[in-house]
Amino acid sequence: MIFLDAAATTPVRREVLDAMWPYLTGEFGNPSSHHSLGEAAADALARARAAVAGVLGCRPGEVTFTSGGTEADNLAVKGIALARQAADPTLNRVVISSVEHPAVEESARYLERFHGFAVDVIGVDATGLVTPEALAAALRPETALVSVMYANNEVGTVQPIARLASLARSRGIPFHTDAVQAAGWLPLDVKALGVDALSISGHKLGAPKGCGVLYIRGRTRIEPLVHGGGQERGRRSGTENVAGAVGLASALTLASGRQMQVAEHVAALRDAFIDAVLAGVPGAVLTGHPSERLPSVASFCFPGTSGESVLLELERQGIVCSSGSACAAGSDAPSPVLTALGIAAEVAQTAVRFSFDSGVSSQDLDTAALAVRDAVASVRTLGRA
Ligand code: PLP
Repeated sequence: MIFLDAAATTPVRREVLDAMWPYLTGEFGNPSSHHSLGEAAADALARARAAVAGVLGCRPGEVTFTSGGTEADNLAVKGIALARQAADPTLNRVVISSVEHPAVEESARYLERFHGFAVDVIGVDATGLVTPEALAAALRPETALVSVMYANNEVGTVQPIARLASLARSRGIPFHTDAVQAAGWLPLDVKALGVDALSISGHKLGAPKGCGVLYIRGRTRIEPLVHGGGQERGRRSGTENVAGAVGLASALTLASGRQMQVAEHVAALRDAFIDAVLAGVPGAVLTGHPSERLPSVASFCFPGTSGESVLLELERQGIVCSSGSACAAGSDAPSPVLTALGIAAEVAQTAVRFSFDSGVSSQDLDTAALAVRDAVASVRTLGRA
């Protein structure tokens, strides 16, 4: 099988599993326990936090471990907006982009439904980019928070986060970015990005599912969503997933050590794959930005097919990919992201996304490009029959 669905998830890396193993077995203590097993777990958690902080260029106290990207996004959007509204009830608007992951979009809608917020959605251009001008036009004195994702999970477009964040912060508005897809591929230094909050998920990087991180800048006020024993400095109660935190820290450290080199290499393979698919499939359209895109994502529409049929045909040939975002799988509605890019519903339902792990090979992508050509041709022929 050639797995080209790494934006959905990745296998746990051997080194990551090795780093986690002691905390799943012999060193199984609860970090809150006052005995040697508990202290060993607390030490491991502290080391994991320091390692994540090292990659993000922040202080360990600014790192909160969560149950994944979805929880990190929820905590950032709801937690910051609610804390600001509590301090000043006139702060009752949030700004998000039209291509956010549901973890951000639905958090904003929750604020609208239950806490009297208005949600200002900024559009993107046909390549999926949010322009600083669009953001500037949406900011108001009542804006409590801006959340714009670093890189999109369906089309791979990378946003100019540093420019957008500096714009929001010049008006005193905190800026959150969902870096779940960017982590491992793009620089994550939170000072250089100038963000107040940033979400990461472990399972996109070779750590297990169910662990994530939210960076929250020093003095940013945030209302916890999960109440209880006060772990994670009161920001996220619940006995910590020590092994998950250790795994995430290990995966993030490994990825950041080789990020520049791997990103360049995979981007070159991606470009060759895109060229081969566009040359081999008449009428194929690349979605997203031609250059400002994740090294790991190539996404297309193949008019005259259905994405689902192409997917099935590819799977028959041993190629695994995605017909849209896995998080929206099972839904028949056209992808809101592709709709936001101005792609008509009948074209959007022909979308297929190929996403690569750091170990992807040019041979695999050559094989995949030929399989795509044949799969689209066969779906089109069947459609005409
Ligand atoms: N944000 C983005 C951009 C994603 O792609 C995903 C998962 O696909 C998430 C958030 C959710 O992360 P998790 O699966 O860890 O909850």
